[in-house]
Amino acid sequence: MNIRDEAALRELNLYPLWVRRGIPAAVEAVPATSASVAESQAAAPVPDEVISKPTEDQTDTRQSAAGFAKPVPSADEGLNPSGLSLLNWTGLKQKVRDCTACKLRVGCSRTVFGVGDENADWLFVGEGPGADEDAQGEPFVGQAGKLLDNMLAAINLKRGSNVYIANVVKCRPPNNRTPEPDEIATCMPYLQQQIALIKPKLVVALGKTAATSLLGRDATLGSLRGTIHDYHGTPLIVTYHPAYLLRSPAEKAKAWQDLCFAQQRMMT
Ligand code: SF4
Repeated sequence: MNIRDEAALRELNLYPLWVRRGIPAAVEAVPATSASVAESQAAAPVPDEVISKPTEDQTDTRQSAAGFAKPVPSADEGLNPSGLSLLNWTGLKQKVRDCTACKLRVGCSRTVFGVGDENADWLFVGEGPGADEDAQGEPFVGQAGKLLDNMLAAINLKRGSNVYIANVVKCRPPNNRTPEPDEIATCMPYLQQQIALIKPKLVVALGKTAATSLLGRDATLGSLRGTIHDYHGTPLIVTYHPAYLLRSPAEKAKAWQDLCFAQQRMMT
């Protein structure tokens, strides 16, 4: 283990208790329990950038109340096939930059397209920009971004090198709330075209919103972890959003399991 690995594992609260000894032969999913969530919710401090975000399990309730009893529109259902599939990177970036198709655009400073290697094998998808992302125009900056960078480093990955990072919605929701189903459905075609252009070997969905939006069905995050899902022929793995892990450090061990699972999948 080199010094960088050690630092990344410390950030994930996995070192020295967890020392990488190579990729496990099999990774058993550990379902989230209400007890563990309740316990982790007691964790402090809560960064400003994530203070208004629901927990992964709270998101279940909020989304059901917001109409998610009906499955989230899938990429195909939400896609307006008005030529997006014909766009290259330049055209797609311009389209997103100019987009005013949903109400999120009114409240944000700029659209946040995505960042990284446009030919990456790894695609990480989050929910939407927060305050730092809105200010800088790049996904996953600030404390959650630092944690994501450390998660990447723990499996020998680096932002921008064989890794692309994007969000489901490109504009910051007010007060960092969860994007609403109509906003997700409107914005989803952009992510879909990003995925079509990247052609990743693996998609890692960070958090419930990303996972259910990509998979087109509602489910708890715990039930989606530890399984290889299919996104239109591309394997998809689900883990926690880094912002959630900042509030719930006890769950970092499960995120580590998911990262090992993802790495194992990439090596097969
Ligand atoms: Fe357009 Fe997406 Fe921004 Fe809505 S969130 S305005 S669909 S880029």
